Amino acid sequence: MSLPTNGAAAISIRNLVKRYAPAGGGEGKLALKGVSLDVPQGQIFGLLGPNGAGKSTLINILAGMVNKSAGEVSIWGFDIDRDRRNASRAIGIVPQEIVFDPFFTPYEVLENQAGLYGVPKDERQTDALLAAVHLSDKARAYARTLSGGMKRRLLVAKAMVHSPPVLVLDEPTAGVDVELRRQLWELVKRMNDEGVTVVLTTHYLEEAEALCDRIAIINHGELIANKPTREMVDMAREKIVVLTLASDVAEMPSHPAFVKCLSIGDRQIEITYDKDKTNAGEILGAVQAQGMTIVDVTTREADLEDVFVHLTSQPA
Ligand code: ADP
Ligand code: MG
Repeated sequence: MSLPTNGAAAISIRNLVKRYAPAGGGEGKLALKGVSLDVPQGQIFGLLGPNGAGKSTLINILAGMVNKSAGEVSIWGFDIDRDRRNASRAIGIVPQEIVFDPFFTPYEVLENQAGLYGVPKDERQTDALLAAVHLSDKARAYARTLSGGMKRRLLVAKAMVHSPPVLVLDEPTAGVDVELRRQLWELVKRMNDEGVTVVLTTHYLEEAEALCDRIAIINHGELIANKPTREMVDMAREKIVVLTLASDVAEMPSHPAFVKCLSIGDRQIEITYDKDKTNAGEILGAVQAQGMTIVDVTTREADLEDVFVHLTSQPA
């Protein structure tokens, strides 16, 4: 990479606030409410959150396409206000929306972008980049003739023309088919193996779980979790037991160790409990002690999906 590792976080964000200007009257949308986070160098970092959470707003601030309202951001140690030029050189961004001039070829798209960043002709890696994203045979085709998947891969190459140490992808796999998703995952992993710090936003949990070293969850413009993927998955330490009873449930059973107890059918209840605090045997005992006869039992572990739903289900 053109910039050596320098000990700083790849990206450092402090108390980042964005309020969009109001369209009509009113206050305008508060899209980021004071977000602070660090992206460590060398990682694949996932920014996860439902639609409207503020992911693209954050990425577009990094890209210099949206002005922040307050807070501080530095990229590879360069403050985006005081040192925008170096900050921009340290980052490549693949935006959520695909936009291309349809009359340029992939080769020209990359050459133009390299020119924009002032990469000298003899240092350009246009052919190598096209090969890396499997577009060598389309180098001279008009961009408008490329499939959606090819365009997305071209965007990744375009983001990398100036060899930035940080690559950011905003929803790279939203609405793409399984095969292309796999291709993009491989591309991201390969770039990361070569030393590039990768940040990606997604609303697919399994994607974050499969790819990322660390996951931050953002909801309604607030950071609600930021942990190594392993720990995030460990948060899923809730267990669920489904009981089928001999007769209709007149009154839901209760117990201090229940996280949640739901009726899921005439004679079925679903109990969520913390498996560090109790076990299925105790749960069954508690239900029987309340006069209910259990005829069937199934259990399952909560997964990251459950954690995510739990964390993001709080209203704004
Ligand atoms: P995400 O990428 O997580 O889906 P966004 O950052 O696109 O979320 O949007 C966060 C919030 O900011 C949403 O409520 C969205 O409607 C609003 N928003 C995004 N862009 C604009 C804009 N240009 N003007 C006004 N509001 C916006
Ligand atoms: Mg978005």
